[in-house]
Amino acid sequence: MTPENRIFESNAINCNHASRTISHGGLVSFPTETVYGIGADAMNEEAVAKIFTAKKRPSFNPLIIHLHDIDEVEKYAYLDGISRRLGNAFWPGPFTMVLPIKKNSGISSLVTAGGDTIAIRIPRNAIARKLLKLFGGAIAAPSANLSGGVSPTTAQHVAHEFGSDFGDLEMILEGGSCTQGVESTIIQVTKNDIKILRPGSITVEDIKKVTNHPLYIKSEKYSPIEISPLLISPGLMKSHYAPNTKIRLDAADVNEDEAMLGFGKNCPSGAQDFRNLSPDGDLHEAAANLFSMIRELDQIGAAAIAVSPIPMAGVGIAINDRLERAAAPKEKSHEKIIKKQALNR
Ligand code: AMP
Ligand code: MG
Repeated sequence: MTPENRIFESNAINCNHASRTISHGGLVSFPTETVYGIGADAMNEEAVAKIFTAKKRPSFNPLIIHLHDIDEVEKYAYLDGISRRLGNAFWPGPFTMVLPIKKNSGISSLVTAGGDTIAIRIPRNAIARKLLKLFGGAIAAPSANLSGGVSPTTAQHVAHEFGSDFGDLEMILEGGSCTQGVESTIIQVTKNDIKILRPGSITVEDIKKVTNHPLYIKSEKYSPIEISPLLISPGLMKSHYAPNTKIRLDAADVNEDEAMLGFGKNCPSGAQDFRNLSPDGDLHEAAANLFSMIRELDQIGAAAIAVSPIPMAGVGIAINDRLERAAAPKEKSHEKIIKKQALNR
């Protein structure tokens, strides 16, 4: 079967089939409003292990579980007052909260990397919601790309990501292009503050409108507010979302052997190939185009992808976060850990 043949129209029959596949311990890729996920039954240790194998993901990197409804959250985790308010404001949507896990949650310890917290999201995408409703439980789902690579925003990206080595990924539900493009905002409410573990399209300003609890954002370079020394999200490695072609950030000019990823009206010309994230300078449009344009420019074999400066405001913070990681040298230690894990299996 070619990778494309695993893409299924998201009609009632195929969604039912997808839900049964997950119930039987299989893997299904499905669209969300942010990126495509690769999902398994979060209570089934063997099924969750298949995600890590398929993605070549290090097992210290925990997964987000996806639920259909805020009422289901307390089956798995404790919700404090502020988290509940944030959940009511941003769910369903591109928003994930790290919450204290309940002892008898039944969630696979691979999902939490053995920790005492769990990341929970209720997505808004209609196909994701249909699947979650049919399945009726928690689906653990990271982005459907090989670990460290560019996140997929179309079903075709998922198919190409896994190539002929599809492993246990049994089907991909077709849902067109993702509307938001960058991954969900991840936060954690503590006694003293709300930590932004990963910036996303729900912005600091959006969160501030819901609660006046102090806010801390992770990224040191881009932090518009204070930095917390306590902050860690194990999956937030320096190198991530990385294409094969080198990325050159904040490019005011471009060489003829480079590809250009522009933003706004006045982008330098003369590149080997060119894409514009948003000619009108719309950050939401830029976020939606980010990963697919990086993938396209990665195909042409340019010396580097030069990227225009992106304003550090609103969802621009998330875009800059992803670009910064895409540009970071791939961590040797990350690759070593994955190799070591493969040997120990
Ligand atoms: P992905 O689903 O691949 O986009 O990545 C999920 C992100 O959520 C990773 O950066 C994880 O490290 C993070 N994450 C998942 N569970 C937790 C948790 N319990 N505590 C902190 N971060 C988490
Ligand atoms: Mg990911």
